[in-house]
Amino acid sequence: MPSLASIASLAADLRAGHRAALARAITLIESRRSDHQAAARELVQMLLPDTGTAIRVGITGSPGVGKSTMIDALGMLLIARGQKVAVLAVDPSSARTGGSILGDKTRMAKLAASDSAYIRPSPAAGTLGGVAAKTREAMLLCEAAGFDVVLVETVGIGQSETAVCDMTDFFLALMLPGAGDELQGIKKGLVELADMIAVNKADGDNIKRANLAAAEYRGALHILSPRSEHWQPPVLTCSALTGAGITELWQKILDHRAAMKACGEFAERRRQQQVKWMWSMLEQRMLARLRADPAMRARVRKTEAEVAAGRVSPALAADQIAEMLK
Ligand code: GDP
Repeated sequence: MPSLASIASLAADLRAGHRAALARAITLIESRRSDHQAAARELVQMLLPDTGTAIRVGITGSPGVGKSTMIDALGMLLIARGQKVAVLAVDPSSARTGGSILGDKTRMAKLAASDSAYIRPSPAAGTLGGVAAKTREAMLLCEAAGFDVVLVETVGIGQSETAVCDMTDFFLALMLPGAGDELQGIKKGLVELADMIAVNKADGDNIKRANLAAAEYRGALHILSPRSEHWQPPVLTCSALTGAGITELWQKILDHRAAMKACGEFAERRRQQQVKWMWSMLEQRMLARLRADPAMRARVRKTEAEVAAGRVSPALAADQIAEMLK
């Protein structure tokens, strides 16, 4: 494990806002080596007092909806206002495809060229839990490094959206103006997570269709009970390409923040997220223990075979495996 002194010096460099230190620290977090992981835990613990300060925004939407174009435009707007913007991504499929699609610098050309932005692609850590855990810690590091806004991008696949929603203050769903499947998201429960829906690509010939889609979403949201009694998720139209509606979109995010802080739900959401995070880490640790110990692994495999053969009930097998962790 890197020495405590070297971790402390990395923490100091990171706090001073050195990008190379931030990149090194995130690499440490993403490492699978157990000594690196121990060092990463020390580092995060050391930096904890400097975290929690950023505006954390999750952004979801199907591939092609305009997430990276939007993040580029929104990021540049914030930078023009003097803010530092970090972009992270949660893409559990990147482990399978071998390369990360999300958070790719080439997709956010203007931001990538700015000194006030930091873009980090999704960690390719295998399970969604692993990817989310690393992204959460990367977010804390970005905060400690002085980033004012953290944008976390994800694609519209169920579980990863929940994971991103669970680590952010505001969850934005981008939709396409096309007809037909707009209401898809509502069926999938996405809309229950969203704090706002933005129908993107509302430009040129698409404006009318975008307005129609927005009206449909408004109608649909109306019949759902909102997540908070202090916030009715707005539906707006925008164009990441022309920049139309982007200022208004950010203003809504600030309005939400003010409203949530005023009623106490902001702090409550963060508290719940912390606790949920702890449990998810605990689950991962326990599974990791089962997998790391060869003797336990062998016994788990045997129990698994018994379950597959129908000789032991899944419930009894789970009890037996849980016993092993004692
Ligand atoms: P992502 O996969 O969600 O990140 O989508 P991209 O940002 O890569 O955008 C996909 C395509 O849609 C690109 O060709 C963009 O230029 C285009 N696009 C993104 N936003 C807009 C928009 O607001 N209006 C129009 N007309 N095209 C857009």
